Amino acid sequence: MSTTDRPAPTLSPDLIARFAAIVGERYAVTDRNDIAPYLVEERNLYQGRSQLVLRPGSTAEVAAICKLATETRTALVPQGGNTGLVGGQTPHNGEVVLSLRRLDNIRDLDLASNTMTCEAGVVLATAQQRADAADRLFPLSLGAEGSCTIGGNLSTNAGGTAALAYGVARDLALGVEVVLADGRVVNALSKLKKDNTGYDLRDLFIGAEGTLGIITAAVLKLFPKPRAVETAFIGLASPEAALKLLTLARSEAAGTLTSFELIAEICVDFCVRHGPGIRDPLTSRHPWYVLMEISSQRDDARSTIEAILERAMEDGLVDDAVIAANLDQRQAFWTLREVISPVQKAEGGSIKHDVSVPVAAVPQLITEASEAVVKLIPGARPVPFGHLGDGNIHYNVTQPAGADKDAFLTRWEEVHDTVHTIVARLGGSISAEHGIGFMKRDELPHFKDPVALNLMRTLKATFDPLNILNPGKVV
Ligand code: FAD
Repeated sequence: MSTTDRPAPTLSPDLIARFAAIVGERYAVTDRNDIAPYLVEERNLYQGRSQLVLRPGSTAEVAAICKLATETRTALVPQGGNTGLVGGQTPHNGEVVLSLRRLDNIRDLDLASNTMTCEAGVVLATAQQRADAADRLFPLSLGAEGSCTIGGNLSTNAGGTAALAYGVARDLALGVEVVLADGRVVNALSKLKKDNTGYDLRDLFIGAEGTLGIITAAVLKLFPKPRAVETAFIGLASPEAALKLLTLARSEAAGTLTSFELIAEICVDFCVRHGPGIRDPLTSRHPWYVLMEISSQRDDARSTIEAILERAMEDGLVDDAVIAANLDQRQAFWTLREVISPVQKAEGGSIKHDVSVPVAAVPQLITEASEAVVKLIPGARPVPFGHLGDGNIHYNVTQPAGADKDAFLTRWEEVHDTVHTIVARLGGSISAEHGIGFMKRDELPHFKDPVALNLMRTLKATFDPLNILNPGKVV
């Protein structure tokens, strides 16, 4: 997939100097080699273009940049860890990149209120570690946590592996500080759970993918740290069996069921074949697997997970299972889960979908989508996995073995349309957790309620009438 073919606007040396004066020469990147990493993304689907990357160190500098951008009609693309998967952080048309990574202070840790106030550039793993050091849990967790930032997490309303128990990024933020396109700062850094003073602006900026404002800081919710965590790797026959196991686990474990990941056999095949040091945790192969985790404040996690598995075996839902004996084994289970995405590269082209349907409809989605995709491209290999507990499946399709990668990838839109049409019929969403960005912008009108889409466009025009912030993304 390429970026737009429109000629990129040229920034005059005078304008570059005015922007550079705000952040200081050192943090205004103009060298082509230094800019290069900001223009590419994880999947190499897009190649961006930009003459200037600005790396502000404070909210005041972000505000001054936005003010100058509005005055000079200069478009900005906000960027955090650059791990987004829908091309939202890429400057497709020569926009100035606004990198928030230097805003990396943790401003406040309030243990009585159970909150942590982080600036936008704080890396997610750092936020988790600071919470942990204070004997608290910040539960947002995803494969890119070593690089992605709190600002990016909130702007994409990230989900991840603990959303089942703790919710998505939106559920984990109490307040935000946001710079608007014209440079005004919205201070909504509230620590309040209860605040009924009109429209909820916070929730507008969360998930807006940088199109309505620049998030510069946020108040995050902290939770008690679980005292006991038990993790099982389970082999079973079908997504239907996995769904029944989920229902059983929810009733037995209630709020202590923190992860429930569904994995197709082909994922384990790819991981064992291409993932360094990855081994199949079970002694024989199964058509499907579940990675299940229970996290409890009490010492009952082990007995709970054992009771669930015992009952599931009696009911014929589970064929085999192993409970992690120690931290290393638990880590090995999670490493397998986390490398499912990267190892697909070794098998050639992969057409990815990040979709959600009502939890009960996941087996139907997998059956129908697999039939339709293989009919469309004989030999195509569906690679479904993901957060079954949230109804969120990464329905990826790997090219037929030995096929031409580029020819396969030219069918991206056709395959998307096939899968997304099934998703829509099942009452689902074409973007569960990665966002719309650039990739799905033109698809959105086919699947979003037209009145809702119209309201989104009205909001964009109200917040950013000159289309300065992340133009060409989402709407
Ligand atoms: P970026 O990629 O830099 O930006 C993402 C979007 O947010 C862009 O539109 C950008 O313009 C905007 N943005 C960034 N910072 C700001 C800001 N401060 N203010 C306003 N707008 C901003 N996502 C999930 O939800 N769940 C997963 O399980 C998951 N797993 C992943 C695993 C891997 C290996 C990878 C590579 C990605 C995964 N992702 C997942 C996607 C990605 O990590 C998330 O979308 C993440 O939240 C992006 O954060 P970032 O800091 O990298 O943002």
